Amino acid sequence: MEWWKKEPLRVIEIAHGYEINEKMKVLKELNANMEHLTRYNASELFPSEEFSLHSGILLKPDDFDKYLKEAHTIGVKVVFYYNVHAVNIQYAKKRPDWQQICEDGKAIDNVYETYSSFCVNSGWRNEVFEMLKKICKFGFDGIFYDGPIFFANTCYCESCKRLFKGKYGYQLPQKTSLSKDRENSQWKDIIEFQSDAIERFLEDSNNVIKSVNPSVLFYMNCNTLAPTWPTGRNNRKIIRKTDILGAEGGFLYYGLNEPIYKPGATAKFLNSQAYGKPAVVFCAGKQCPWNFSILPKGEITLFYTQTITHGANVWLALCVDEDVRKYKQQVNIIKRFNKFIKENPSPFIDNTSSCAKTLLIFPQRSLDFYEGSSVPLTDFTKEIKGEKAGNLIEEFYGFYDSLVRVHIPFDVSDEEGILNIENDKYDLIIFPNAVSLADKEVEKIEGFVKDGGNIISSFETSSHNYGKRLEKFKLGKILGIDDIGKIFGPLRWDSIFIDGKIIFSPEYGIEIKTKGKIISYFAKPLPGSYSKRPEISEIPFIVENKYGKGKSIYFAGTIGSSIYKYHFPEYYKLLSSFYNSLSRKILEIENAPTSLEISIRENEKFYYIYFINFTSEMKRPIEEIMPIRDIKVKFFTNSKIGDVYSLWNKEKLTFKKAKGKIIFNIPIIKEYEIIRVKKEEK
Ligand SMILES: [Zn+2]
Repeated sequence: MEWWKKEPLRVIEIAHGYEINEKMKVLKELNANMEHLTRYNASELFPSEEFSLHSGILLKPDDFDKYLKEAHTIGVKVVFYYNVHAVNIQYAKKRPDWQQICEDGKAIDNVYETYSSFCVNSGWRNEVFEMLKKICKFGFDGIFYDGPIFFANTCYCESCKRLFKGKYGYQLPQKTSLSKDRENSQWKDIIEFQSDAIERFLEDSNNVIKSVNPSVLFYMNCNTLAPTWPTGRNNRKIIRKTDILGAEGGFLYYGLNEPIYKPGATAKFLNSQAYGKPAVVFCAGKQCPWNFSILPKGEITLFYTQTITHGANVWLALCVDEDVRKYKQQVNIIKRFNKFIKENPSPFIDNTSSCAKTLLIFPQRSLDFYEGSSVPLTDFTKEIKGEKAGNLIEEFYGFYDSLVRVHIPFDVSDEEGILNIENDKYDLIIFPNAVSLADKEVEKIEGFVKDGGNIISSFETSSHNYGKRLEKFKLGKILGIDDIGKIFGPLRWDSIFIDGKIIFSPEYGIEIKTKGKIISYFAKPLPGSYSKRPEISEIPFIVENKYGKGKSIYFAGTIGSSIYKYHFPEYYKLLSSFYNSLSRKILEIENAPTSLEISIRENEKFYYIYFINFTSEMKRPIEEIMPIRDIKVKFFTNSKIGDVYSLWNKEKLTFKKAKGKIIFNIPIIKEYEIIRVKKEEK
C-alpha cells in the first residue's frame, strides 16, 4: 500500500525558516506526519525565481539529504512544494514563448498583481519535467503542484491556438465573450480543451515522477466549490492522473463572509469525486489575503473538526513571519487534534462508509453552463437589468445549512456522482437548482424514484441541456410538471400562502402548471410592502408528486438562496418536516442547539457518531467555541450494541436499549466528539 494511504495525513506547512534541528522539533511538537516544504533556496533550483517572502533560514539543496534523514527519523514525510502557476516576471520575460497570453494578445503580467504565468501547452513543460527528475533524485517523498491553471482570459499562445485548431477545426474562440453565450457549443469545447490540457500535463508529470520512483506522491491544488471554467481544473480528470484530491476549502477571505461550512462542504465534495483516493482540504491558518496573519483558535478548530469528520485530511499552514510556537493557543489546538487523529485513526481511514440517508447535489456542471437564468425577468413584479436569478452556490449552501441545523446527516456529490450510487443507499436526493443534468443522470434518477426513492428540487432544476434552456423539465415526469415557464422576481416583500398562513416568499419564482398536489401558492405581488394585505395567486410554489413508489417535492422558487440570505425560521421548519417524512430517521437529539452538526459512519465493528460544535460568540473569525451540555441522543439501529464510548472525552457512556434504538446522554461536548458504538458479534 502507498505510504499516503496507510494512516490519516497530518500535514503541516510552515512559512518561517528554521534551522533543521529546530524545524524538526516544531514538526514533532505539532504531531505532523507530512510536511509541505516551501522554505528551500529556490534560487539554486529555479533560476531567478526566489521565494523570499518570509524571514528565517532558507534551506539549500546541499542540505536536502540531512533534512530528509532527520524528518524521516521523526516519522515525517516531506513533500516538495512546486509553484507551477506564478512565475517571476523577469524570468518570464526571458521566455516569452512560454508565457500565457491574454485575449488582447499580451502576455499575462498580473498574477497576484506582480507575477506572470507559463502555459502547460508550451515548451515550458519540458523544463518542468527535468525539474521533477531532479526533485525525485533528492529523495523527496512527494511533489505538490500549486497550479497549473489557466485564467479567465487566457490562453492564446501559439501552442494553444495550434492544438485547438488541430482538434476542433476552427480558431480558438474568446473565452470571456463565450462566458456570456453559454448556449454556444464552442463554450463546451473550450472548457474541454483546457481541462484536457491540464490532465495531459499531469499525466506526463506523473509518468516522469513514477519512472524515477513509484513511491513518490504526486498531487496538485484542485478546484473547490466553484465553477471549473475560469482555471480549467476539472477534479474528475485531475484525480485520474494524480494520487490525492486536494482543494483550498480552508482559505477564508476578508470578513469570512463565506459560509462557515466551507471546509466541511469541500471535504464531502472532494470525497465524492476522488474515486476512493484520499482527499485533503488545504486550510490556511491566516485571514486571507493578509499573508502574515494568524486565525484565532476557534477557526482552526473548525478546520479540523469539519475536515476530518467528512473524510478528508487536514493540511494546515502557519504563515506568521516568526517562530510559530509563540502562538500557544493555535499551536495547542493543532497539537491536540493531530494527536487525537494519530491515536484514533479508525474513524478516519478504516474502511468506514457513510450512514447518511440524504444526498445533497453540488451542481458542478450547472456552475459551468448556467449564469443565473438567462431569461429576462418578467413583469410579475419588475425587471431589474443585470441581475440574474438563481445563484447556485447560495441555493446549495441554503439547503446545506438547513440540513445541518435540523441535525440530519447527509453526503454531498456532484451530478456525475449520481450514476454510481446504489438505489437503496439513499432515501432522499436534493437538487438545489441543479439546472444541467445529463440524460444518463435523469434516467438514473427516474429509476431511483420509481423504486421508492424521494427527491426535493428547486427552481430551474433539470431545465437546461448544458447551456441551453429547454421547453420542458428533464425531470418533468417526476416533478409532475412539463413546461418551463417564465422567471419572475425579485420579490422583495412578497409572500406565499401555506396552510392558510402568509409567510415570506423566496426572491425568485418560476411560473409552472401542474397536475400534482399543490401545497403552497405564491401571493399576488404587491406594488409596495405596505400597499395592502397579500392575496393568493394561481401560481404554485410547492408541488408534491408521486412517481412509481417514490415522491417528489418541488419548490418553484429559490428557497435555498432565501435561507442562505434571510434564515427565515419558517423555512427551516418546512424543510425539516419534508426531510423527516422523506427519509428514515437515524438519529434524534434533544437539548442541543442548531449549531451542532452530526455525521455517522460505520464499518464492520463500529458505528461512529461525529459531533461538530459550531457554537460561538456571534462573530467571525471565531475565537472561542462554547461547550454544550447534557445532550440526549436516540440512535436508531437494529444491530446488537456492545458498548458506547466517547473518544474525545475518553469515557464509557451508559446506554438504554429500546425497540429499534439505543438512548444515551453525552455530558459535555466541548469543540468536538466522536461516539463509538460497538456492534456486538451476532
Ligand atoms: Zn497556451
